[in-house]
Amino acid sequence: MNPNSTNHLICAVDLGGTNLRAANIDRDGRIYERVRTSTPETEKAEDIVIAIVAAVRECETEGLNRGAQLQAISVVVPGSVQVGTGVVVNAPNIPSLPGFRLASALTAALDRPVLLENDANAAALGEMWRGAARDCKTIICLTLGTGVGGAIVLDGELWRGVDGTAGEIGHTSVEPYGGVKCKCGNVGCLEVYASATAIVRMAREGLAQHRSSSLHSIPTAELTSERIYGAAVDGDPLALDVFRKAGAYLGIAMAQSRNDCHWRWRLSCMGFARPTCARRSYEARFSGSCRTLSDCARRMRR
Ligand SMILES: [Zn+2]
Repeated sequence: MNPNSTNHLICAVDLGGTNLRAANIDRDGRIYERVRTSTPETEKAEDIVIAIVAAVRECETEGLNRGAQLQAISVVVPGSVQVGTGVVVNAPNIPSLPGFRLASALTAALDRPVLLENDANAAALGEMWRGAARDCKTIICLTLGTGVGGAIVLDGELWRGVDGTAGEIGHTSVEPYGGVKCKCGNVGCLEVYASATAIVRMAREGLAQHRSSSLHSIPTAELTSERIYGAAVDGDPLALDVFRKAGAYLGIAMAQSRNDCHWRWRLSCMGFARPTCARRSYEARFSGSCRTLSDCARRMRR
């Protein structure tokens, strides 16, 4: 492999609890072909394999059309993984995967090396490589999507803990008494208040108290975090309340982790809404700096 060639690519796959995305990138981080589809709702891990293979094949075909070739595949999943063996240990939002040798299955199907990693760990390293944490050595990274992922980098090294599952900040209990039950089995986890799933749940629960909310015009089944985000930007009281609540819980967890790791404030907007939409909005309104979603919600109203 010529590592500097733009024609020799890695296909990076982001397997989320809701969306499955793949993109061809080169060694310098340039992104070429992209594919987005839905993550199958299934009890069979094989269905997940089929979906990932289809996304990679589509990227590969588009790359081949301009003479580029795939050298390897990286797959990130919303859960704990054993990087060495390519086994998914835990994935509350994709229940078919725990215990499954995902990397081996994909290597057999695609006939190329496949590296498996936790999505938040990959996001943390990506932010240090090309993103908001380029000049930082100690960071925490939270990924706000279907769930809340977390990663810790200490003095430049990804901290995996004794069993490879460190950094699950999404399962920090922020409401231990009477909190909402989490898929991990605990109650009151950050994830049940600050994920996209939580945003939708809290908005649905608040509809009865906010008769004039614009969210009433959206069919319940079509209520998404992205649409709630849009309503918050437009000043809808219910949507703002939901983001304020999510921001408060996020602030609790982030303050705790800051006491542990003493990282510097740096925000990169991902998840909840389309990243481009979120980033454009945040940068336009707050010069890219916002401490919590609660701050964001307050500033959105201005
Ligand atoms: Zn949990």
